[in-house]
Amino acid sequence: MIRKAFYGDKVSLNIFSYSTKKHYGHEGYVKGIARVRRTKNKSTYLLYEIDCECGQVLKSIKPRDLILVQSRALESEGFDLFTERMRYFLKQISYGKDTTNKQTLLLQVNAALKPLKPKYKKVIRYRFSLNKDCLHQLSYKEIGEKLGVSKQRVEIIYKLALKELIGG
Ligand SMILES: [Zn+2]
Repeated sequence: MIRKAFYGDKVSLNIFSYSTKKHYGHEGYVKGIARVRRTKNKSTYLLYEIDCECGQVLKSIKPRDLILVQSRALESEGFDLFTERMRYFLKQISYGKDTTNKQTLLLQVNAALKPLKPKYKKVIRYRFSLNKDCLHQLSYKEIGEKLGVSKQRVEIIYKLALKELIGG
């Protein structure tokens, strides 16, 4: 629990509410801060937008639900979100060795995805934010629009691809 977070802080999520349960224990970065005014007594409080390591952006997070991991991590030297995304993905599928070396990570991600069919590869990249120009997670619907298939089909492809990655 922290009183106040700043832009770029690396935080761990300590929330257990229904909507954010699956992010419990995830780490992320403070991406936005909103000052909200209570209508009753005109006092204000802060809510945070968190860029979660899993690629999702969480809105309206209270400071009491955050644990500070590293102050202003986003601004620290050598920080790279794409590197973080690749590490998270490889950790999820237990592939390769953990490193902060970007080139090694790129090779490992490409090698991990190699056996997948092209469409499966794309879905995984969009879901795990593994595209340099798009470092946030796309919804099944958004991916479906890009690939010209239904969002149900995207969800099926995602599950099959993940199974192949983890099982194989
Ligand atoms: Zn998350």
